[in-house]
Amino acid sequence: MKQTSINDRYKVHTLPALKDNYMYILTDYFLKFGIAVDPVEPEKVLEILAKEELELRAVITTHHHFDHAGGNKQISEMIKNISIYGGDDRIDSLTKKVCHNEIIQIGDLLFKCLHTPCHTSGHVCYYIEGDASHEPICFTGDTLFISGCGRFFEGSAKDMLQSLNILSALPLNTKIFCGHEYTLNNLKFSLSVEPNNEEALQKLKIVEEKLKRHEPTVPSTIGEELKYNPFLRLDKKSVQLYTNEDNPTAVMAALRKLKDNF
Ligand SMILES: [Zn+2]
Repeated sequence: MKQTSINDRYKVHTLPALKDNYMYILTDYFLKFGIAVDPVEPEKVLEILAKEELELRAVITTHHHFDHAGGNKQISEMIKNISIYGGDDRIDSLTKKVCHNEIIQIGDLLFKCLHTPCHTSGHVCYYIEGDASHEPICFTGDTLFISGCGRFFEGSAKDMLQSLNILSALPLNTKIFCGHEYTLNNLKFSLSVEPNNEEALQKLKIVEEKLKRHEPTVPSTIGEELKYNPFLRLDKKSVQLYTNEDNPTAVMAALRKLKDNF
């Protein structure tokens, strides 16, 4: 398990789950609790919290797919009155439905809910603003991956374009914690689109090293993503030439199709 220090008080724990999913626990060592993001394997989450003598205060869910929301029911049965947040009625054991730009407070933390439909129609990303002590962070579920984006199960290329525009407008130093370890394959695809992209080549080296050591490749930052993630580079000549399109929605649709067949 990887721990990312946010500041003296908060940490993000990255927990691999199922085949290639990530669950996260955001821990507050001052108020002594944790917030679980997409805890599909609740035992793993609760074991870590017990070890750290922290209580589980809330669950936030990015979308209703089983590999993200599949642990909610068990958690709601184990911990009475736990708050379970999400943006879709299909999410198991939901207690609080959130909407776009709604701000939810858990302890002293404020999460801004960003509705990013397309992978699913009710997908929500959760953003915490930075301050003097820490950089901003965002849990992006299956909307934005490192060097990629989610499949368009319940939306169009235009929807994904709008959703990714919301995320790419976040501050460049925003740390991105996504829902799957897809980075290596994503980067290989990115390099098929832009073979001369130095940033992608450098990132590939770093990622290969991390994976060799069995370390997660999260987090990245919005600033990094803008340099090599083709789905955030629709206006770049190289990406337009590769897809043979220049209108951003058409480039997005073409990239997704190419990636699905990659
Ligand atoms: Zn999904």
